[in-house]
Amino acid sequence: MSSRGLPGFNTRAIHAGQEPDPATGAVIVPVHLTTTFKQDGVGGLRGGYEYSRSANPTRTALQEALAALEQGSHGMAFASGLAAEDTLLRTVCEPGSHVVLGGDAYGGTFRLLSKVAARWGVEHTPADLNDVDALRAAIRPTTRVIWCETPTNPLLNIADIALVAEIAHEAGALLVVDNTFASPYLQQPLALGADVVVHSTTKYLGGHSDVVGGALVVSDDELAEQLAYHQNAMGAVAGPFDSWLVLRGIKTLGVRMDRHQSNAARIAEFLLGHDAVASVLYPGLPDHPGHAIAAKQMSGSGGMLSFRLTGGEEPALRVCERAQVFTLAESLGGVESLIEHPGRMTHASAAGSPLEVPGDLVRLSVGIEDVEDLLADLEQALAS
Ligand SMILES: *Cc1c(COP(=O)(O)O)cnc(C)c1O
Repeated sequence: MSSRGLPGFNTRAIHAGQEPDPATGAVIVPVHLTTTFKQDGVGGLRGGYEYSRSANPTRTALQEALAALEQGSHGMAFASGLAAEDTLLRTVCEPGSHVVLGGDAYGGTFRLLSKVAARWGVEHTPADLNDVDALRAAIRPTTRVIWCETPTNPLLNIADIALVAEIAHEAGALLVVDNTFASPYLQQPLALGADVVVHSTTKYLGGHSDVVGGALVVSDDELAEQLAYHQNAMGAVAGPFDSWLVLRGIKTLGVRMDRHQSNAARIAEFLLGHDAVASVLYPGLPDHPGHAIAAKQMSGSGGMLSFRLTGGEEPALRVCERAQVFTLAESLGGVESLIEHPGRMTHASAAGSPLEVPGDLVRLSVGIEDVEDLLADLEQALAS
């Protein structure tokens, strides 16, 4: 049980929004593949359902589960993480608004702000969220949003959510936290003062690399109403089958995360002791610069880790190509282990910007396979 008397996390993951179907007793929420709903007389909606862009029962179940996991009051499910981000930005910003974007944010978030939102007059400034003076200096009277990713992708930097929330609120801005890497199992930003949680449910929440989706979770009723209005008006909603897949993934989030992070911790230790590795970026390591803050605001260190090669970019590319159990692919958070080169792959769009990542960096999404097989694979991939 949590301090608020809610059922425990795994109980919520399995039951919140997922009562057995009242008509049939089906234990699992059905996939409501319907665009429209019969009305009992003009305007006589059953349960508020009218048209599936506006609301669909499978999506409602997912949205309730998302809100319960993040300890928010309202969840909204979208067609992708970026669709959620776009809807959020266009709800809370207007031409002339300004966004402070923390450190090494997800490349797609940076692209959305720099290439799309910028054309509509929404400006942004990258800032190191760990440098309070730099953060304060980046804030303008028009700043509407401080965008915080923690841990970051791919450098695994940690920001102090409670501290950044305080600074955001002093400035009259909203704190948005992209909680994709930690997942709500390890970190609940709303409880730490954030105003909006963003997810790419494509990653840990879905968890099986078979669905692209996104989410927003908030606690403020007025903000929720504005977001829900834009979710419907802009239309980038999660479809019923995609919603069902994410809901199915969520049921096992807790047990998956436990295994993801115990495997990641073993791999971090192994890499630390390897000659070809210059450094390991994993918040669970005591010498990680964000270790103390991570320990304060997260209940574990997660399944993502990056490392830098002593020999530069060439060996980094070689490790990615030689790995066999680790699949060379973008994305993360699925049950299978993935390896990638951020500089040439996920973060190629940040090249030449302040968010550019080093060429000797390799990122792992540590899956839930047997850890001995993962260690043996890295051993052979690193052998010169
Ligand atoms: C993948 C990802 C996104 C974007 O989500 P999509 O579902 O790919 O649109 C945003 N933030 C982070 C941290 C991500 O990893």
